[in-house]
Amino acid sequence: MKLIPSLRNHAVLPENNEELQALRTGKWQVYQEEATESATLAGQSIQFRAGLTFTPYANPTKCNAHCRFCSEELQRKHQKELTAENIIQNHEEYFTGLAAAFKALSSLTTMGLSLSGLEATSDPLWLLRLLELIGQAQDVPVFNEKVLYTNATGLHKHPDLILALQATHFDRLEISRCHYDDQINQKIMYINRNEAVYQNAAYEALIKKLGDYVPVKNSCILTQIGVNQRSEVERYLNWAHDLGVQQVVFRELSRLDESYVENNTKQWVEKHRVPIDPLLRAIMPDLTQTRKDWEYLHSNAGYYYYNEHFLYRGAVEVILETSSYHELRSRNESNVTQKLVFHSNGNLCGDWDPNSAVLANYFAKKTEDAVLS
Ligand code: SF4
Repeated sequence: MKLIPSLRNHAVLPENNEELQALRTGKWQVYQEEATESATLAGQSIQFRAGLTFTPYANPTKCNAHCRFCSEELQRKHQKELTAENIIQNHEEYFTGLAAAFKALSSLTTMGLSLSGLEATSDPLWLLRLLELIGQAQDVPVFNEKVLYTNATGLHKHPDLILALQATHFDRLEISRCHYDDQINQKIMYINRNEAVYQNAAYEALIKKLGDYVPVKNSCILTQIGVNQRSEVERYLNWAHDLGVQQVVFRELSRLDESYVENNTKQWVEKHRVPIDPLLRAIMPDLTQTRKDWEYLHSNAGYYYYNEHFLYRGAVEVILETSSYHELRSRNESNVTQKLVFHSNGNLCGDWDPNSAVLANYFAKKTEDAVLS
């Protein structure tokens, strides 16, 4: 198996069919950690996985969509409240705290910025202020990659955001769209109907324009009522290609375990999951047989996910990905921090839960109480 260095860890290239099958059956179990970096937070030296990403959890408002699978609606049994409910209250306190967290992490050299959570574009003033902070020359980590995850609503409503993202050198916009037919997409994403992009007329015009400013990657969640088989994957790709999209990731709904509350979202996820394995077999049963128009590039065995990268029609990079929340939590229990999330309560955590794996708190009144997980 060849290892190919990458920004976030490394990619892997199986050299024969046995290695490919070992990857496909092993998934994330094949993960090998590259290296670690350290920084001091709240007086303690913390080890970080080299290549980890930092997420300023974007919840300036509630989300303007209501995706049936939304991970923010999944609740772990010990969790007191949903992160999605903790909207950022006080911008002064928030940005002062975030600046302090950035300063504490500014010595890290391999960290990426992953702007996700709810919908970052729903409050343009919040996003512009965040971009201004990220763009500062001093006391901010040098992020080696910057990505915004969005449903595109605010990019259509506030085009000045597009210029600001370009000026802050974002590497790509990862735009959620679960189907090429807007009516089917709407049955999955439930985008607020006062957001023009719920219809393809506005969405398609926006995507065609965006590529001139920041590269666009689409994220399509595979679902039983949406994209659910190889022919649908190819229809989606032909549509995205015509819009100038450079990358598309098709994600299997994350594998959950019994630690999640049996709420509507968990039940929907379990009922509508489309596994990627049959798709991978249909596209490339083995290394010597790849479907017409598809070229295999490499795979990634990440710390809680596995994906395969292909080139479609020589133009669009396609990623098919599966992940496990159970594996994510198990890795987080090691003494190496795998992920950083700054939450709206001022906690800097190694977890998406604002009260788990707390590394430090950066709101002034709580600084002295900063605790280690
Ligand atoms: S756009 Fe994202 S945050 Fe909003 S409902 Fe959909 S998955 Fe959840």
